[in-house]
Amino acid sequence: MSEVLVLVDHVDGAVRKPTLELLAIAKRIGSPSAVFIGGADKADAVAESVKGYGAEKVYVVDDAEIKGYLVAPKAEALQQIADQASPAAILIPSSAEGKEIAGRLAIKLESGLITDAVDVQVEDGAPVTTQSIFAGSYTAKAKVTKGTPIITVKPNSAAPEEGAGAGTVEKVSVTISDAAKTAKIAASNPRAATGRPELTEAAIVVSGGRGTGGDFSEVEGLADALGAAVGASRAAVDSGWKPHAFQIGQTGKVVSPQLYVAAGISGAIQHRAGMQTSKTIVAVNKDEEAPIFELVDFGVVGDLHTVLPAVTAEVEKRK
Ligand code: FAD
Repeated sequence: MSEVLVLVDHVDGAVRKPTLELLAIAKRIGSPSAVFIGGADKADAVAESVKGYGAEKVYVVDDAEIKGYLVAPKAEALQQIADQASPAAILIPSSAEGKEIAGRLAIKLESGLITDAVDVQVEDGAPVTTQSIFAGSYTAKAKVTKGTPIITVKPNSAAPEEGAGAGTVEKVSVTISDAAKTAKIAASNPRAATGRPELTEAAIVVSGGRGTGGDFSEVEGLADALGAAVGASRAAVDSGWKPHAFQIGQTGKVVSPQLYVAAGISGAIQHRAGMQTSKTIVAVNKDEEAPIFELVDFGVVGDLHTVLPAVTAEVEKRK
């Protein structure tokens, strides 16, 4: 069975959930092989994690030489592993970094690239992706027709599947060109800093809008009680209450969690574009005519400053 390469997304060796989702997808296509680019001292722990989710092989690229550079060296490392393994497909998480690596890799391998897939199935032995387009109004199916299919997959597109693979570790030494090492990262990775889950990966998102009046403490309180990520509408971001990284919508992030709570958000079409594929949507709004109520599963007409603390207290009580 042909190998399917999965690029491991990790923070200092802690494997992130999208990688485990990709391993589940890889199993549908062929034999999953994880590619870990990171510190050699973390390799055993990473191999153990991915092995538990079906990785038959784990390629380990020691990043001692490339650490701190932008994405170009990672694309070169993946290219060299792909040249050696001739995989049936290469799966990469749909993060900003993942998509840049995928783009560079596609050029190097002269392969077709599909980004932001929300599902990957196999038809006639080849991966066929589903993408959500036009702000979630339509879905499109696509297939790579040239070279090794390179596919970036959005978080929460598949459930991780436990099940041991062989997890054979193969240390790979790669040659990184000087050209790939021209841009260095000046600041440390901000992803490691927050205690909350990453917005696009979170199973639960609690978002606040203009209705918060700039006080996000109740939104954050509920998020922390639920183990959720915090999001914001553009009105809240434009008001300077939250950085743009929190914005959900057409010009922000697209999330698709199990549960999305919109507090003090009217439900403009541009906001919906970023959250309408959430599995369960709950809104708290004091205006019963607010458009957000058209798409909710549960709606509460009320003042968020009263409703959110009451819900938070109830959640805490049940823990
Ligand atoms: P509002 O529309 O002002 O709604 C606030 C809501 O809070 C109201 O429904 C009100 O009833 C309720 N409320 C007030 N006080 C309380 C209270 N105490 N308790 C409960 N409810 C209360 N928007 C995005 O969100 N994301 C995007 O990516 C985005 N991209 C855009 C791109 C373009 C090109 C354009 C033109 C617009 C974009 N917008 C985007 C803006 C969008 O059109 C809306 O203006 C924005 O979503 C409104 O944010 P809001 O719902 O927080 O504010």
